[in-house]
Amino acid sequence: MSFIHSLLFLRCPKCRTGKMFQHKPYSFKGVTSLNKKCPHCNTSYQLEPSFFYGSMYVSYALGVALAVAVYVLLLLFGLGKNGLTAFFAIVATIVVLAPYVYQLSKVIWASFFIKYDPKISDKN
Ligand SMILES: [Zn+2]
Repeated sequence: MSFIHSLLFLRCPKCRTGKMFQHKPYSFKGVTSLNKKCPHCNTSYQLEPSFFYGSMYVSYALGVALAVAVYVLLLLFGLGKNGLTAFFAIVATIVVLAPYVYQLSKVIWASFFIKYDPKISDKN
Protein backbone atom coordinates (compact mmCIF):
# COMPACT_ATOMS: atom_id res chain seq x y z
CA MET A 1 0.00 0.00 0.00
CA SER A 2 1.45 3.35 -1.00
CA PHE A 3 1.97 6.19 1.47
CA ILE A 4 -0.84 8.36 0.06
CA HIS A 5 -3.18 5.36 -0.16
CA SER A 6 -2.51 4.44 3.47
CA LEU A 7 -3.17 8.04 4.57
CA LEU A 8 -6.45 8.31 2.65
CA PHE A 9 -7.67 4.97 3.98
CA LEU A 10 -6.60 5.89 7.55
CA ARG A 11 -4.13 3.02 8.01
CA CYS A 12 -1.35 2.55 10.55
CA PRO A 13 1.78 4.52 9.53
CA LYS A 14 4.09 1.64 10.50
CA CYS A 15 2.51 -1.30 8.66
CA ARG A 16 0.05 0.57 6.37
CA THR A 17 -2.31 -2.37 6.91
CA GLY A 18 -4.05 -2.07 10.29
CA LYS A 19 -6.79 0.49 10.77
CA MET A 20 -5.99 3.34 13.17
CA PHE A 21 -9.66 3.86 14.09
CA GLN A 22 -12.23 1.33 15.28
CA HIS A 23 -15.01 2.97 13.29
CA LYS A 24 -15.26 4.72 9.94
CA PRO A 25 -15.44 8.55 9.92
CA TYR A 26 -19.17 8.68 9.18
CA SER A 27 -20.16 5.88 11.54
CA PHE A 28 -22.49 6.93 14.35
CA LYS A 29 -20.56 4.68 16.74
CA GLY A 30 -17.85 7.27 17.20
CA VAL A 31 -15.55 9.31 15.03
CA THR A 32 -13.05 9.55 17.91
CA SER A 33 -12.55 5.79 18.24
CA LEU A 34 -8.75 5.79 17.88
CA ASN A 35 -7.18 2.41 18.64
CA LYS A 36 -4.52 2.47 21.35
CA LYS A 37 -2.45 -0.01 19.36
CA CYS A 38 -2.41 -1.20 15.77
CA PRO A 39 -4.58 -4.35 15.36
CA HIS A 40 -2.07 -5.64 12.78
CA CYS A 41 1.46 -4.81 14.05
CA ASN A 42 0.70 -3.86 17.69
CA THR A 43 2.41 -0.46 17.38
CA SER A 44 1.30 1.94 20.12
CA TYR A 45 -0.12 5.20 18.76
CA GLN A 46 0.24 7.07 22.05
CA LEU A 47 3.93 7.96 21.84
CA GLU A 48 3.65 10.38 24.75
CA PRO A 49 0.81 11.96 26.81
CA SER A 50 -1.33 14.29 24.70
CA PHE A 51 0.52 13.16 21.57
CA PHE A 52 -2.37 13.94 19.23
CA TYR A 53 -2.75 17.60 20.26
CA GLY A 54 -0.37 18.37 17.40
CA SER A 55 -2.85 16.95 14.92
CA MET A 56 -4.89 20.15 15.44
CA TYR A 57 -2.30 21.96 13.32
CA VAL A 58 -2.67 19.35 10.58
CA SER A 59 -6.44 19.68 10.81
CA TYR A 60 -6.15 23.46 10.49
CA ALA A 61 -3.91 23.14 7.44
CA LEU A 62 -6.33 20.68 5.84
CA GLY A 63 -9.22 23.07 6.52
CA VAL A 64 -7.41 25.96 4.86
CA ALA A 65 -6.46 23.75 1.90
CA LEU A 66 -10.11 22.66 1.55
CA ALA A 67 -11.32 26.26 1.69
CA VAL A 68 -8.85 27.32 -1.00
CA ALA A 69 -9.74 24.32 -3.16
CA VAL A 70 -13.48 25.00 -2.91
CA TYR A 71 -12.94 28.68 -3.70
CA VAL A 72 -10.80 27.89 -6.75
CA LEU A 73 -13.44 25.40 -7.96
CA LEU A 74 -16.15 28.04 -7.51
CA LEU A 75 -14.08 30.53 -9.52
CA LEU A 76 -13.56 27.96 -12.27
CA PHE A 77 -17.33 27.45 -12.49
CA GLY A 78 -17.99 31.19 -12.31
CA LEU A 79 -19.67 31.11 -8.89
CA GLY A 80 -16.93 32.56 -6.70
CA LYS A 81 -17.62 36.24 -7.33
CA ASN A 82 -20.52 36.28 -4.87
CA GLY A 83 -18.80 36.31 -1.47
CA LEU A 84 -21.79 34.91 0.41
CA THR A 85 -22.12 31.93 -1.95
CA ALA A 86 -18.42 31.20 -1.60
CA PHE A 87 -18.61 31.50 2.19
CA PHE A 88 -21.51 29.07 2.54
CA ALA A 89 -20.00 26.62 0.05
CA ILE A 90 -16.73 26.61 2.00
CA VAL A 91 -18.47 26.23 5.38
CA ALA A 92 -20.67 23.41 4.06
CA THR A 93 -17.66 21.57 2.64
CA ILE A 94 -15.69 21.88 5.88
CA VAL A 95 -18.66 20.76 8.01
CA VAL A 96 -19.47 17.77 5.78
CA LEU A 97 -15.84 16.64 5.65
CA ALA A 98 -15.09 17.34 9.35
CA PRO A 99 -15.28 13.70 10.56
CA TYR A 100 -12.93 12.52 7.80
CA VAL A 101 -10.54 15.46 8.29
CA TYR A 102 -10.51 14.74 12.04
CA GLN A 103 -9.33 11.16 11.49
CA LEU A 104 -7.06 12.01 8.54
CA SER A 105 -5.24 14.70 10.55
CA LYS A 106 -4.43 12.16 13.27
CA VAL A 107 -3.11 9.66 10.73
CA ILE A 108 -0.95 12.36 9.10
CA TRP A 109 0.31 13.55 12.48
CA ALA A 110 1.23 9.99 13.55
CA SER A 111 2.99 9.38 10.23
CA PHE A 112 5.37 12.26 11.01
CA PHE A 113 6.72 10.30 13.99
CA ILE A 114 6.10 6.61 13.24
CA LYS A 115 8.24 5.33 10.38
CA TYR A 116 7.03 2.81 7.82
CA ASP A 117 8.41 -0.70 8.19
CA PRO A 118 7.95 -2.66 4.94
CA LYS A 119 8.93 -5.95 6.63
CA ILE A 120 5.71 -6.09 8.64
CA SER A 121 3.42 -4.45 6.10
CA ASP A 122 1.56 -7.31 4.42
CA LYS A 123 2.22 -10.26 6.72
CA ASN A 124 -0.72 -11.88 8.40
ZN1 LIG B 1 0.31 -1.29 12.15
